[in-house]
Amino acid sequence: MQQISITKVTTRILELPVKAVHSHGSGDISVMKTLIVQIDTDAGITGYGEASPWSVFTGTAEGNAAAIDVYYKPFLLGADPFQVERLLFLAEREVVHCSEARAAIETALLDIKGKAFNCSVSDLIGGACHGEIPLSFSVANPNFDEDLETIAELVKDGVRIFKFKTGFAKHEFDVMRFEKLRELYGETLDLRVDYNQGMQPFESIQRIKDLEPFSPTFVEQPVLATEREAMAEITRAVNCPIMADESVFNVRDALTMIQLRGANIFSLKIMKSGGIRRAQEVAAAGRAAGVACYGGCMFETGIAHAAGAHLMNSIPYLTLGCEFYMANYYLEEDILCDPFPVKNGKVVVPTGPGLGVEPDLEKIEKYTTSVHK
Ligand code: MG
Repeated sequence: MQQISITKVTTRILELPVKAVHSHGSGDISVMKTLIVQIDTDAGITGYGEASPWSVFTGTAEGNAAAIDVYYKPFLLGADPFQVERLLFLAEREVVHCSEARAAIETALLDIKGKAFNCSVSDLIGGACHGEIPLSFSVANPNFDEDLETIAELVKDGVRIFKFKTGFAKHEFDVMRFEKLRELYGETLDLRVDYNQGMQPFESIQRIKDLEPFSPTFVEQPVLATEREAMAEITRAVNCPIMADESVFNVRDALTMIQLRGANIFSLKIMKSGGIRRAQEVAAAGRAAGVACYGGCMFETGIAHAAGAHLMNSIPYLTLGCEFYMANYYLEEDILCDPFPVKNGKVVVPTGPGLGVEPDLEKIEKYTTSVHK
């Protein structure tokens, strides 16, 4: 294969309308702001990646665009796009934080590499282990009656995993939602809870115990990301498994939480770790310590979902499913030519070259609010 070089890096900030307001322990989401990166090469191969920030969690679209435009472009332009690890290492050295920008760059590089070698991103990162991954839908509408209708529709589509976003309303409301769902569906649904850091340590143990009669598969991030000792205390005190999301961005955080025994499960997200390869490191640390992993995501379009799906596909011990539902069930309109592949409640990991999904350039144009070439 002849040497190829990066000739152009374009960043676009998009604002995409969503179907319903999502409420979380850390705030409401009514429009999805995301950053799409396009990397062109002199071989005529183009790769796409996405940085999906959430300002209260990871970072901002503007900050990530600046990381790429100002700091990454000088070493990306003219570089060999196949040298993924070298370029990631440079990016990590150049800008602290902005992990989503690195995820976007890595995704675009792997997309190019896969297209050049006619293999999928899954093939590039260890090979497909699952093919299909059960989909979890996040129930986060403050209007629970609307959520019940949505759940009924999704159950018809084959979805069986539902994750409640909690911590934004009264505890009694959370208990009521669980009670209602178990009453309507019995044990046929796999129910989980995500507090998004919404509780204070002193109240969290009792509240989780109140939910235990409804058998949640796990409780996610009950307290602040930085309250790691409290996470450990909660993990010891309750029967229900505890998952760390905001507390574990990268392998360093994973090691800290492992030493504290601060969680039973890690939520893997390419936006937190700074890409697929770094998320694989988190998964490997978890595996070594008996901590399970789950396929998490941020507010993403089908491009980032595809990158995440390849990551989860590469981890044989991923057993708790994934939450790549935004493109199909949350956005008014995604930016792929074909719908992100979800069938019978499962994500069907694309097998085509690179990411295996094709961005719709007209739709990208339609939702772009600023562009940097
Ligand atoms: Mg979470």
